[in-house]
Amino acid sequence: VEFGHCGFPAILTGNLKKAGYEAPTPVQMQMVPVGLSGRDVIASADTGSGKTVAFLLPVIVRALEKLTQSVDSPTAVILTPTRELAIQIERQAKELVICIPNMRTALLVGGMPLPPQLHRLKSNIKFIIATPGRLLEILRQKAVKLDKVKVVVVDEVDTMLKMGFQQQVFEVLEHVSDEHQTLLVSATIPTGTEELAARLVKDPVRITI
Ligand code: AMP
Repeated sequence: VEFGHCGFPAILTGNLKKAGYEAPTPVQMQMVPVGLSGRDVIASADTGSGKTVAFLLPVIVRALEKLTQSVDSPTAVILTPTRELAIQIERQAKELVICIPNMRTALLVGGMPLPPQLHRLKSNIKFIIATPGRLLEILRQKAVKLDKVKVVVVDEVDTMLKMGFQQQVFEVLEHVSDEHQTLLVSATIPTGTEELAARLVKDPVRITI
């Protein structure tokens, strides 16, 4: 299977090729169709498996479908535990949306100055890539609205738990309407993850790599 045969819009297939991605990795093969179907997902996939592109592709394709509706607030939120991971996710997202109009990303992470992040939010952002604490701080200032969000990704759920971000993730989710899809990604699925997952997903498809 090659990305060229996945039925993606041509511009996205071209961007995948430009990024050097010819064929989907196993996690991408499993997660992309389920993601596109709108079902919730719990995927156990480690760094290096291609998990980032696996959750970005459904996020981007679903946003393309909504392009015509010219939604002017974010349609996807990607939560990840650390600034470094968020930077990597944004880098990969930007590669995939080159030359696609109205697909701007905002990186909302702690440990970096807040004012430029607030400024960025004024420019019609489609995707938010955030660490939970900084996003909450920005939500409390009412500097962004998540009411149009259709897809929520919680990346590295096991690390989120270890770092004690569970309550912050729940609090962020209170700002998102009930009609959203959730994609949970975790290297391992320890007991705590199952409890967190139970509160975040509905009737999930489980993917194990
Ligand atoms: P991740 O598991 O998301 O940390 O990704 C690991 C690395 O694999 C990243 O550097 C990606 O750029 C790369 N990658 C993701 N998908 C593909 C693919 N389909 N083909 C080749 N490389 C990929």
